[in-house]
Amino acid sequence: MSTPSPNPFSDNPYPQSQQPGAYQNPYAPPQAAGGYLPPPPPGTMQFAPCPTCGNTFASKVGFTWWGGVLGPSLFTHVKCARCGNAYNGKTGKSNATAIAIYVAVTGVLGIILAIVLLTMMGR
Ligand SMILES: [Zn+2]
Repeated sequence: MSTPSPNPFSDNPYPQSQQPGAYQNPYAPPQAAGGYLPPPPPGTMQFAPCPTCGNTFASKVGFTWWGGVLGPSLFTHVKCARCGNAYNGKTGKSNATAIAIYVAVTGVLGIILAIVLLTMMGR
């Protein structure tokens, strides 16, 4: 007469290889879950987060209508890789104020220069 003793370990729902918390390969490439950190698009660098969408990857703007080549490099003017918004890659804020000042200053300087040149030519 033997009493069947239920073995609590016999109904293990997990096979040995699929135990939760099993050994994981530490050399496996870190895969971001759910596309949390997409790889940076080619030609972009990491800057301050975009004020519109929070993305940190942006490409430097080489030339703008308002600042030529000098303006965008003065203000770290970058273009967000995700939403295309242009902003200051150093501060993470909009460059609108800086652009307005830059345009005003260069505009005034241009007018002064034009007046000076016209005055000199008029003599
Ligand atoms: Zn953005």
